Amino acid sequence: MDITEKPSLVGMTREELRAALALLGVPEKQLRMRVGQIWSWLYARGARDFDTMTDVAKTLRDALAENYTLDRLQMAEAQLSNDGTRKYLFRLADGQLVETVYIPEMGRGTLCVSSQVGCTLTCRFCHTGTQKLVRNLSAAEITGQMVAARDDLEDWGLQERSNSGSRKITNVVMMGMGEPLYNSDNVAAALNVMSDGDGLSLSKRRITLSTSGVVPEIADMGAKTGVMLAISLHAVTDALRDELVPLNKKYPIEDLLAACRNWPGLSNAKRITFEYVMLKGVNDSDADARALVRLLAGIPAKINLIPFNPWPGAPYECSDAARMQAFADIVNRAGYASPVRRPRGRDIMAACGQLKSASVKQTAAEKKMAELAARGLGR
Ligand code: SAH
Ligand code: SF4
Repeated sequence: MDITEKPSLVGMTREELRAALALLGVPEKQLRMRVGQIWSWLYARGARDFDTMTDVAKTLRDALAENYTLDRLQMAEAQLSNDGTRKYLFRLADGQLVETVYIPEMGRGTLCVSSQVGCTLTCRFCHTGTQKLVRNLSAAEITGQMVAARDDLEDWGLQERSNSGSRKITNVVMMGMGEPLYNSDNVAAALNVMSDGDGLSLSKRRITLSTSGVVPEIADMGAKTGVMLAISLHAVTDALRDELVPLNKKYPIEDLLAACRNWPGLSNAKRITFEYVMLKGVNDSDADARALVRLLAGIPAKINLIPFNPWPGAPYECSDAARMQAFADIVNRAGYASPVRRPRGRDIMAACGQLKSASVKQTAAEKKMAELAARGLGR
């Protein structure tokens, strides 16, 4: 077989790995054990060479090496923000490009993972929304973003590492490019690989999936993965939400909140995060804040206020700091804690809603505008 045609084991689910080993002739009664061993090499230790898999019989290692690789997603570019945020650009096998962002904070590190190349939805404040959907990512390409980031951050090691608190990627958010609930099967498969306790081992409580509100897919995703849910709400009336998040015309606020109330396991220990982008003069009044609090009454919730991140040609501006504070105060007084999300990585266009893969090249004028925006509004 041509070397370039060998598939990679990296990104496979347990079922896929099992099938791959069965094809190589591993006897049925050994499959479970072999899957377990190789799983741990792939996802707990980040092995890059079959020869390091010392507890796997040499004959099987050779057969694996002959038919498979341990290749990662190809990193086309890595950019470092002045606040420590990293943005990775990955080139996929068919040449498509996708972005992943790592955001280090005190005591934790969050990896923001993409689910699609581009997005079919067209939220008016989102840069990704201006890029047409190219395609869904496979489960392996979604899991592969985390594997490649662990490589780059030298974040491999056995379980003790998670327990000692020295892990670099402690949280994953499905908040990169794309709408995860329009690629539900692949996203669910990837999240189940990431949360597998014998592998990448992320707690389900530290994985958050954000959706713009694909109502019919919400319950199923909850049942299949058990991860945390975030809803991109952004408006308190259907009239405004229809404009900001056009998907609202199909699934209005009432239906969306009904789906939230039915979220599996919803409780104070497993609250839903409501994301609310702060748009100057559009959705940021005191009356909006009060309506928001009323709307969410009875749903165990966290509210995450996101300062609007500018991008070239965006039709909005970010609310003033004083306005955001006044809005936050009303939300706080209603009992919701720490609401304003600090923008990260704006200088490298890595902040929420700024991702748009370089497959669509920026013009010099766009670059200049992005720079100005980052300087004027970044930290
Ligand atoms: N498609 C999913 C997940 C990706 S977007 C969703 O829409 O939920 C992640 C978050 O960033 C969403 O809450 C989105 O509304 C928000 N966002 C998009 N563009 C933004 C911008 N320019 N500034 C701030 N937040 C933005
Ligand atoms: Fe797509 Fe989310 Fe951007 Fe809307 S906010 S266009 S759903 S990526």
